[in-house]
Amino acid sequence: MTAVDAQVQGCYIDGKWVVPKQDRLIEVKNPADGSSLAYVPRGDKEEINLAVKAAKKAFHSREWKTLSPYQRGKLLFQVAELIRNNKEELAQLETVDVGKPLNQSAVDVEIAARYFEYYAGIADKIFGETIPVEPGIIDYTVREPIGIVGHIIPWNYPLQIAARSIAVSIATGNAAILKPAEDTPLTTLKLVELMEPLGLPKGIVNVVTGYGHEAGAALSGHPEINHITFTGSVETGKRVMASAAQNIVPVTLELGGKSPNIVFADCNQEQALEWVRKSIIQNAGQTCSAGSRLVIERSIKDQFVRELAAAMEKLSIGPGIDNHDLGPVLSKKQFDIIQSFMDLAKKDGIRIVTGGERKQIEGYEAGYYLQPTILDDVPATHTLAQEEIFGPVLTVTTFQTEEEAIEIANGTPYGLVAGVWTENVGLAHRVASQLQCGQVFINHYGAGGGMAQPFGGYKKSGFGREKGLEALRNYTQLKNVALKY
Ligand code: NAD
Repeated sequence: MTAVDAQVQGCYIDGKWVVPKQDRLIEVKNPADGSSLAYVPRGDKEEINLAVKAAKKAFHSREWKTLSPYQRGKLLFQVAELIRNNKEELAQLETVDVGKPLNQSAVDVEIAARYFEYYAGIADKIFGETIPVEPGIIDYTVREPIGIVGHIIPWNYPLQIAARSIAVSIATGNAAILKPAEDTPLTTLKLVELMEPLGLPKGIVNVVTGYGHEAGAALSGHPEINHITFTGSVETGKRVMASAAQNIVPVTLELGGKSPNIVFADCNQEQALEWVRKSIIQNAGQTCSAGSRLVIERSIKDQFVRELAAAMEKLSIGPGIDNHDLGPVLSKKQFDIIQSFMDLAKKDGIRIVTGGERKQIEGYEAGYYLQPTILDDVPATHTLAQEEIFGPVLTVTTFQTEEEAIEIANGTPYGLVAGVWTENVGLAHRVASQLQCGQVFINHYGAGGGMAQPFGGYKKSGFGREKGLEALRNYTQLKNVALKY
């Protein structure tokens, strides 16, 4: 069952839908059953050049320059309202496009609306400073828009990430070009379609669909963009950074993770168990901040893992539109990657406590459904505990001392998020202060909803921060003005 009919969608450039050539299309499929959802343009250099030209014209236009920060904020509040008015359609579209359960898509839609509200409220509060240099000089700073900003979006949370990209770009007075992932472009296109009646100056928001090595590479290597934000894999992040470097274009990189839940014996085990489970099954484990490693005190490991496995086995698996706990993974390609990790586990004699297999669902044979999986006693340095699997697969590694817990937690190339579970406040903060990652949750995982909390990584998880006030730094540049009197 699909919520949309197969249809050809255009790129959105300069306030118009640019209809693709018939031989330049990408088919978008429903991960639940492999059926066709839509065709979108296979944009390339040509469309990116048009989008940059339109964005440049719009950014320098009188219409945009004279729109006050308050008015920009007001527009963003209206987008939030439009999203809420269309929440069912957006959630269904996200579910058929990405595969995730409908209730998770509904949360994504609400978060998208809240990004617009958050940055709407900030648009007229982007302050500079006055600096007391010396008598006779008035010195102040102004945060100015950076210009043309490119956003390259991954396939796993397309609506949320498109929303925060557009919201922060408009709040800071920039013109934006979005390149959604080729697999999941539909809600980004829908969002700009919903925004059309608001009458934003043409070219302030553009969307070019296409493959990464074509449209994505053309955007990140374009000499006339002023900032690029990339969310995706480490390998692609390196390529984006290298091509932006040719033009001295700053980048924000939000890359992957191998995030631990560090569970001490004194914690509230019921709560820890619930969140360890939730943090690995959300979006079938295809979440950059997934809690994909359980790092647990040895004395409680056996019982905790037994109970976790029992809880995992009760989860329902099936098409996202029917609201199962786990939907399918995105594609055969994604499934094969996960499967290769399962093969490695078997080859290396790692104990699979539960899961590890594909699940066939009647009527949805072409979808790739995976049982939630627990791999026990995985040595901290093993590939399975080091590399991002991007599926519902949890590794378990034990520790005996606080130092060992920290060493294991920090012992991967990544550093995105960590959960710390203990009733001992001193221990919790001591551990938090030593974790090499961008976000730490104590006795929760994901508390606060995200919009207001700076998000980004240490080490190979990237640099720069999205979300919250911190993101404003990416999209503004600072000017110092000195007046002698
Ligand atoms: P990916 O790197 O393959 O693709 C991400 C985006 O980059 C897509 O839009 C793709 O078309 C584009 N792209 C691909 N090659 C490109 C190139 N040469 N130049 C420019 N753009 C190019 O990643 P993915 O498979 O879509 O997403 C999964 C990865 O993203 C995982 O590693 C995950 O952890 C990471 N991720 C990170 C975050 C975060 O906020 N840190 C959020 C979501 C996903």
